[in-house]
Amino acid sequence: MLLIIKKIYKSILSEKTRIKLHYIRFSIRGYFYSGSKVTCVCCNKSFTKFLPYGKVKRENAACPSCNTLERNRVLYLYLRDKTNFFHDQLAVLHFAPENRLEKIFRKMKNLHYISGDINPQVAMKQVDIQSIDFPDNHFDVIICSHVLGHVPDEVKALSELRRVIKPDGSVIIMTKIYNDISATLEGSELSNAEDQEIFRKHGKDFHESLQRGGFDVSIIDVAEEVGNAAAVKYGLGEKELIFLCKRKVKS
Ligand SMILES: [Zn+2]
Repeated sequence: MLLIIKKIYKSILSEKTRIKLHYIRFSIRGYFYSGSKVTCVCCNKSFTKFLPYGKVKRENAACPSCNTLERNRVLYLYLRDKTNFFHDQLAVLHFAPENRLEKIFRKMKNLHYISGDINPQVAMKQVDIQSIDFPDNHFDVIICSHVLGHVPDEVKALSELRRVIKPDGSVIIMTKIYNDISATLEGSELSNAEDQEIFRKHGKDFHESLQRGGFDVSIIDVAEEVGNAAAVKYGLGEKELIFLCKRKVKS
């Protein structure tokens, strides 16, 4: 019965509408967790706790109201406190936009902001990261969080990111790093059923792939930088690293 209702729901409403309804549900949920113990920097509200999230549930992960995760809050704090993102005039391309962050960035008058995804239902423009439909040297900032594990050809994707970023621009990359893997696994090296949704598991050598793609890479650990008390208060998780990529100057 539940399956039939779900099917009817899916056939009547577009994916965009369903996502909107999803987030209305979250904002109602937020009222039940109002408090002062933790604060979500993305919706600027405080709660008794962050909620568990994930196939294997992580504690203190999802904001009760806007449903942002640790990595989204890390990215927001980094952009707000450590970059010119909130005040300079910037051309921005945001891949696989997180709902809450996209909402905030679209309203920012200083940004010429475009979100892109292979699925046009979840972004402003359909964009394939392996063949980005923009001219060379076009963007000041590209945000690419938790995308590269899901892309068939990562080398091509990095080459395209390098092509469309301005020489002094910043490509901000995040991904799930499997700390028990020293070298990234892909293709036939992925054997588990749970791996079927992804093309690779990034290991501790991830930054080397970015360097081979033509970038100088700085690895930023925002949780470590703000200290343990703030990291807990803002629900920043552990080892949600930012890989800040700048175009290497060809010698
Ligand atoms: Zn929130």
